Order: sequence, then structure tokens, then C-alpha cells
Amino acid sequence: MSRPETLRTASDLVAAGLVTESRAVDVERVSERYAVAITPAMADLIDRNDPADPIARQFVPDAAELVTLPEERADPIGDLAHSPVEGIVHRYPDRVLLKAVHVCPVYCRFCFRREMVGPQGLGTLSPEAMDRAFAYIAEHSEIWEVILTGGDPLILSPRRLAEITERLAAIAHVKIVRFHTRVPVVAPERIDADLIAALKGSGKTTYLAVHANHPRELTSEARAACSRLADAGIALLSQSVLLRGINDDPDVLAELMRGFVETRIQPYYLHHPDLAPGTSHFRLSIAEGQSLVAGLRGRISGLCQPTYILDIPGGHGKAVIGPNALHEKGGGSYAVSDFRGIEHAYPPDL
Ligand code: SF4
Repeated sequence: MSRPETLRTASDLVAAGLVTESRAVDVERVSERYAVAITPAMADLIDRNDPADPIARQFVPDAAELVTLPEERADPIGDLAHSPVEGIVHRYPDRVLLKAVHVCPVYCRFCFRREMVGPQGLGTLSPEAMDRAFAYIAEHSEIWEVILTGGDPLILSPRRLAEITERLAAIAHVKIVRFHTRVPVVAPERIDADLIAALKGSGKTTYLAVHANHPRELTSEARAACSRLADAGIALLSQSVLLRGINDDPDVLAELMRGFVETRIQPYYLHHPDLAPGTSHFRLSIAEGQSLVAGLRGRISGLCQPTYILDIPGGHGKAVIGPNALHEKGGGSYAVSDFRGIEHAYPPDL
């Protein structure tokens, strides 16, 4: 039996029962502008009978993507403003992004780098550009952490990933290597012994941030892939985007965060959606986001609490935008809200 293929065209999506013939024209128009890919694992997960299926909404193109608002921008988090050499983003003093590849196993419809990834994106770094990127890291002794992102670095073969991690092994001031990836969830079969050995090839402390947005993505196959990574000594973190129609519900968010912890993934970032072109149908207001995040407090364990983050447009970095429990009253006094929203004086009234 032949292996199922990743779906990439309107006719693939029609044949797989994911869009009707009448919507195929919209999919075609969107795919002329933005890349499309749905792995077999994600295609299997989509409920064809649910027109609002949260997995379909993440991967099946929608005509709404053709609407770009004035505040949306091609590079919403300002990567290019902080790129000293091709493939490197040096925004914070002690860490850099290394973007070796701009290809992904799936293309998320809300992607913040949607103008950079895909077949028409920034491509893969040439060997010469890779040399310049490594020279930059080696010359900057303040770089403590290298974050491999892109694109999805785990789309690379184990051999090519090992070439990267082995080069990082030779740079003594780099202590931490972190990968940002969707692969354990959308293509869990790729997480095998060779890939794990390549991820650990630097010999440094290795972190892997798993991107998932809905608890149904944490299938038994995805959980098993994460177990293989955790058992190999790779520390796992979560990354999710708060998305309208996908996880803008306290029960869904709670189940997602619990699912991460059950899978030994430490909840880390819950991103407010970036101002990427054609993504306004996914965006909530910050007030809605804060209310959802406030709803997690008390409802689920402290282990399950993500940090709600906004990437400030223009490349100014991340800001924590979670609800503030503390309100200054003057004279060193505060009102502190408990998880039910009830305020208490601090220090307590005498
Ligand atoms: S996996 Fe990440 S970089 Fe790739 S399309 Fe999804 S959000 Fe964008």
C-alpha cells in the first residue's frame, strides 16, 4: 500500500473530502498567495461533518485570507529589522534565531511568517549563508541560546539536522539549543531514533517547543512521539496561538494545557495572534484574551498555566499581557484579585 501524501492543492483537498467543489475556487485563489499543506495525520483528524472543525480551520484555506487589513503587515514581528546576516535574527542580547529553512510540514492559515514560508518563501540557506550564520554565532560570545525555527527545522533530514547541531557543538559559549516545531504533532512518525540523535547532536542542553493549538492535536501518536523525545532527555515546552474558533474557549484551553502537562510538555507561550496578512478572522481582542487566560487561574493546576504574550509589532520583542492580579492603591497598599475575581487588601486591613 502506498503511503498517504501531504495534501497541497485544491484538487487534493476536494478528493480528500475536505472542501466541496464549490469552495475549490476559493482554495485555489488563496493557494496562489499562501502555501498549503495538510499532513495525513492532520487530514485524518478533521471531522468532515463539522463545518466549524477546529483542526480544519487551522489548515484548510479560507477566502477570508484574501482580505488584508491596513494594520496587517508582511513581517509582523519585525524579523528583518533584526537580521544582521541572512538566516539570523538577533533581537535579544543573549539569544538568536537560526532560520535554516522556510518550509513546513503543514501551513497554518494564521502563520505569522506566512509571507516568508512555503515554496515561494525565503527558501533554505545556501551553504555559504550557513557559514556566515555560524560565523556570526561564533563571533558573538554573548549568544547563550540558539533557537532553530523558520520554517520548521524538523522538516530537515536527520543528516542535515546533525550537520547543524554538530556545528553548534563546536561553539563553547552556546549552552542551550532550542527547536521550535510542529512535527511531533502533525507528523509524529518522523520522530525516530535518527532524528532524536540529530537533535541532541550538539551535546548541549536541548529544548524543543511543540506547537499545538487544540487538545485533539495531542493524539496518541503525538503523545508517543513526545514521550520518545522526553525519554531521550530533551526538555519539552509548549507554544500555542490563541485563535478565534479554535481555542477561544476556557474548557478547550484548559484541556489543551492539561494535555501538554500529561505529555511532559511544560506550558510556555500562549501567543496573541500577530498582525499577519489575511488573518483577521482568527484574531480576538486583547481584553477577550485576558479574560480567557484569567479563567484558567484556579480552574487548572499551576503547572498548566501558560504565559500570555504579545509580540510587539515592529520587532520590539515580546511583552507579557496576561491579566494583572495586582492593583496599586497608594501608600504601599494593593488590591489583589483571587482566582474567583474577588479583591483582597494587601497588606490585609487591620
Ligand atoms: S508550522 Fe509555524 S512557521 Fe510553519 S506555517 Fe505553521 S506557524 Fe508558520
